[in-house]
Amino acid sequence: MPCRYNRRQFLRAAALAPPGLLLARFSHAQGPVVAADDPTATALGYVADHTEVDTAKWPKKAGANGAGQQCTNCAIYQALDDDFGVCPIFAGKRVHAAGWCNSWVRK
Ligand code: SF4
Repeated sequence: MPCRYNRRQFLRAAALAPPGLLLARFSHAQGPVVAADDPTATALGYVADHTEVDTAKWPKKAGANGAGQQCTNCAIYQALDDDFGVCPIFAGKRVHAAGWCNSWVRK
């Protein structure tokens, strides 16, 4: 998969973004998919399929608006394609479009 960003976009982002965010944004397009046993995933309740969240353990997902929560409508998700995207929480890796974690924020 070719890089989604051209040189001008990279340099502009470099001038504006904090170093950590820049690294997260440009380094993970080709990264591995977040594994189920990833320590950050475990800590935040990340799952590849938002319908499989243990709502007893993660009540945020059980609330009135919980059913609709998934990565694709999270404010910090950036789609790469129909199936995967990137998330600054998992820098260097890809998350599933249908995923979810307890850091979900409405877009
Ligand atoms: S913070 Fe948002 S985009 Fe990142 S894994 Fe959690 S729900 Fe998905």
